Amino acid sequence: MAEKRTELSELGEFGLIDRISQKFKIEGKSSVKGIGDDAAVIDNGDSYTLIATDMLLEGVHFDLSYMPLAHLGYKAVAVNVSDIAAMNGTPTQITVNIGLSNRFSIEAVDALYEGIRMACDNYKIDLVGGDTTSSASGLVISITAIGIVDKTKVAYRGGANLNDIVCVTGDLGGAYMGLQVLEREKQVFMANPDMQPQLEKYDYIVQRQLKPEARMDMIHELKELNIQPTAMIDISDGLGSELLHIARASEKGLQIYEDKLPVDKQTYDTGYELKIDSTTAAINGGEDYELLFTISQEDFEKVKNHADIHLIGYIHEASKGTKMITKGENIVDITAQGWNHYKN
Ligand code: ADP
Ligand code: MG
Repeated sequence: MAEKRTELSELGEFGLIDRISQKFKIEGKSSVKGIGDDAAVIDNGDSYTLIATDMLLEGVHFDLSYMPLAHLGYKAVAVNVSDIAAMNGTPTQITVNIGLSNRFSIEAVDALYEGIRMACDNYKIDLVGGDTTSSASGLVISITAIGIVDKTKVAYRGGANLNDIVCVTGDLGGAYMGLQVLEREKQVFMANPDMQPQLEKYDYIVQRQLKPEARMDMIHELKELNIQPTAMIDISDGLGSELLHIARASEKGLQIYEDKLPVDKQTYDTGYELKIDSTTAAINGGEDYELLFTISQEDFEKVKNHADIHLIGYIHEASKGTKMITKGENIVDITAQGWNHYKN
């Protein structure tokens, strides 16, 4: 009899992670939180140690024809710092694993590490180890970040309470729109190498794609405002997907308002030019690395006039579902487009 074969696309990335996590129950006394949040949480006695890891593959996560190696190094660190931030923590160390093909020179590796060094300086973290191997299929870079958080301050995805306010930092959809511009310029360049890319008009959104920042500034600010987020996640896959993670982990539903979504003017204008709806980019685009969090109603006064914290909705009962009120006052279901690497 033939062995059963299930395609990866049947489960998708999140289904696959669920399947793995069901097979590994947490046993150790110091393992506080395992699979299922932005970082693992480990009890070190005085405080919690956080561990987050992310792998970037050439051809899947980045294209070296428009991603400078120094930017790639910086981004690979920033995306991990973002996961530590999403636990309300502070990063302290990273380890870096790279797989290199002989296509890369010493100078190329130097450029990659220059970006990593800049990120270490900026986020005040030490590079303390890693591994180097050869790769048959392009550049692989995998970084693990270690961080720390006060035991009473850790923020999980699953802590949202009824009536909590849903907040998002910065603006959304820019990184996705920047990627569309870079892809378009690449096609133009490949058709005619004399054509130089015209990117000045798109400086902000291209920067959002090539050099994202983890919002550690917001973590410090929340502390100064004396706000403890009840739940938090960073926006790597897209607002829609992250809202569903918070709702599911918190066993609640939620409602957001399209007209409250923060979208930068350049994102909006480029969307108009490229015929991409900016709300779709904000919800499904991903890679903005902003923070999505919930706060208690009591904290409303502290954030209501904050320039960089946007109140986009609130938490309600699970039975009411995860909904968006559109600009035309229709109620639509929020779906997780995310990045399903295994589909299409
Ligand atoms: P994020 O987007 O915040 O990086 P992911 O969606 O990548 O989060 O991962 C969600 C959770 O699943 C995390 O706890 C992560 O550590 C865990 N995870 C992802 N892939 C695997 C794997 N192959 N084996 C075990 N755990 C995994
Ligand atoms: Mg995350």
